[in-house]
Amino acid sequence: METQDQVADDSISSDRELANARWWHKQDGRVVCDLCPRHCALKDGDFGFCFVRQNKGGVLKLNTYGRSTGFCIDPVEKKPLNHFYPGSSVLSFGTAGCNLGCKFCQAWEITKSRTVLKRLSQKATPEMIAEAAVQLHCQSVAFTYNDPVIWSEYAIDTAKACHDRGLKTIAVTAGYICPEPRKEFFEVMDAANVDLKGFTEDFYQHLTLAHLEPVLDTLRWIANESSVWLEVTNLVVPNANDDMAVIRKMCEWIYDELGPDVPLHFTAFHPDYRMMDTPPTSPGALVQARAVASEVGLQYVYVGNVDDPSRQSTYCPDCGELVVARRWYDIGAYHVKGNACEFCGRSIAGHFLDQPGHWGTRRVRVDPSELLRAM
Ligand code: SF4
Repeated sequence: METQDQVADDSISSDRELANARWWHKQDGRVVCDLCPRHCALKDGDFGFCFVRQNKGGVLKLNTYGRSTGFCIDPVEKKPLNHFYPGSSVLSFGTAGCNLGCKFCQAWEITKSRTVLKRLSQKATPEMIAEAAVQLHCQSVAFTYNDPVIWSEYAIDTAKACHDRGLKTIAVTAGYICPEPRKEFFEVMDAANVDLKGFTEDFYQHLTLAHLEPVLDTLRWIANESSVWLEVTNLVVPNANDDMAVIRKMCEWIYDELGPDVPLHFTAFHPDYRMMDTPPTSPGALVQARAVASEVGLQYVYVGNVDDPSRQSTYCPDCGELVVARRWYDIGAYHVKGNACEFCGRSIAGHFLDQPGHWGTRRVRVDPSELLRAM
């Protein structure tokens, strides 16, 4: 938990309209946040660990509602989601802060740097975002860049506005959320990529400052109790979570608890934040992890952040034919018809149109307020 004094330099609440937050109760004169398993107990003026939720006069407030660090149109494969309308474009945005404390964070400028709150310049209401996504011909809107769990109120309102306009919604998250808000949050999401950062409690405790079990609980719940399309990402960090015996256990758990057809992405780490002395993940480690997952029986396993087209493509689990060719975020050959393999008719898990999108690898910055003003 951070105190007000620790963040006073940033003056983050003085010039900002604060939104009422949900999911909290009062106990022993403190406000206790019930959004994530940290349950921060906040004295008046305190900020939570995520530094975007604050006890302000005995009421929990969210200081990033309607504010973003920026909007981009990305390919859906960048989330990463390989089985959710391949080739389509996604209006993506995030805010600031995070409820995990990963020492290997690959986006620490927006998740950990408190000065980012001063740069939350792009003001956008849920309706503005949905309208912009329609005008930009995006298939979906993604809540990403930082974990949307900590700004659930804003993400949920935006997802509802998107659904009203016929758009799909995507959450990119570490899944560290309590059961009650989890239901409301994922009810309005069509797809999610959940980061399973490791598979030991020790790893979670020491390198993410969180716990493993709540994440496993979220994964089980999404896979078995919701209609959200689920893909899982594991960032392979050298000498931290790259023990192949542990990766095998993780894959066995995914097979048993989530099912063999949940796509799994092994992605490469690059030195960042507090792990600058750790080397980047070797392509060989990703290849090995993918081979372990395939041996266990997972049907759709991918490698990411490296140039490896054959391991970024989708193959039919029955006939073995290439059904979606990919190189990074570019779609090549495409043989899915009626959500099934064009060669043998076997169903391919996920959501596929008969033709892929053609967004390609582009990443285009947009400002919804500018866009809508110009119309
Ligand atoms: S969402 Fe933020 S304030 Fe709430 S419990 Fe989690 S870290 Fe603490």
